[in-house]
Amino acid sequence: MSAVAGDGVCEKSAFLTPALRAELLASYPDVRPDLVADDLICHLAAHDDGDHFAILYDHLPGPDAGALWTRWSDDVPRVILLRPDCPARSPEDRIPCGHFTAHPGPHSWQTPTQA
Ligand SMILES: [Zn+2]
Ligand SMILES: [Zn+2]
Repeated sequence: MSAVAGDGVCEKSAFLTPALRAELLASYPDVRPDLVADDLICHLAAHDDGDHFAILYDHLPGPDAGALWTRWSDDVPRVILLRPDCPARSPEDRIPCGHFTAHPGPHSWQTPTQA
């Protein structure tokens, strides 16, 4: 696993398939369907290899619930991953990292975004 530093976020896009959406709602009955992401964008730092990751649902109850993510390598996400939030915070501003625990590459605040 290698990552290219300083090139912003990956921004590789994908779409949540109806099949994966149905699986998510069946596996997590408390999820609000209108808050599930359909347009998926990899927010990891730009990377040359490894899978892409995007958040499907970030509204699980409780501060330590983590979020539902998916990953893909060939344009079509097929898995649902419940991942704890990355515990790291930026040294100066204490901004929480927006990724999951043990994510590849730098933390989100180390990567410039266009938002
Ligand atoms: Zn990516
Ligand atoms: Zn992080």
